[in-house]
Amino acid sequence: MIPEERPFVAPDKYHELEGVQKMLAACIQCGTCSGSCPNAFAMDVTPRTLWRMVLRGEKEAIFATRTFILCSSCYSCTLRCPRGLPLTEAMGALKQIASREGLAPYKASTRFYASFLDSVRRHGRVREGEMMSLYFMSMKNPLLPLQFASLGMKLMLKGKVGAPFPTRGKRPLEALFNKVMQLEKNP
Ligand code: SF4
Ligand code: SF4
Repeated sequence: MIPEERPFVAPDKYHELEGVQKMLAACIQCGTCSGSCPNAFAMDVTPRTLWRMVLRGEKEAIFATRTFILCSSCYSCTLRCPRGLPLTEAMGALKQIASREGLAPYKASTRFYASFLDSVRRHGRVREGEMMSLYFMSMKNPLLPLQFASLGMKLMLKGKVGAPFPTRGKRPLEALFNKVMQLEKNP
């Protein structure tokens, strides 16, 4: 049974490993999260093992895994955890730490996320072609677009993705983005 109350962790603490430890303090290592995760097959350590590493404060080992970056925020583990722990938020908090600290192994993923949000901020929804252009520019690797050129052309010819040229857009969500940034700075 899922408890009605979940442990509260102040948003600023999401940025620190101690905050993630607080989220997971009641973990009983049952493994339900690992058994519920659709992406576990691709992870190098299971979510249950990752939580053990977090609780032990093994920061170096945590940020050598691919587990949290492969979390697709489906919430299966969060819904099924018998302790009602905020597991999806914990995965997100680890992504935030990796992004803020600019950890090299996660550069491609964190820049992909940033490009996605940049496009949403400009238009209120993602524009796939533009998002990929923003991503390529942020990666500063002139050969990277070549890996996607064939697929990109096929999708464009079928009308599945739009023009790749970034535009400023109408920025309909600007107030929302600004508010979130403000809350993150002054929770
Ligand atoms: S399902 Fe919850 S209690 Fe069980 S191992 Fe995962 S986080 Fe811990
Ligand atoms: S939220 Fe992430 S870790 Fe949890 S089940 Fe979904 S993909 Fe796996």
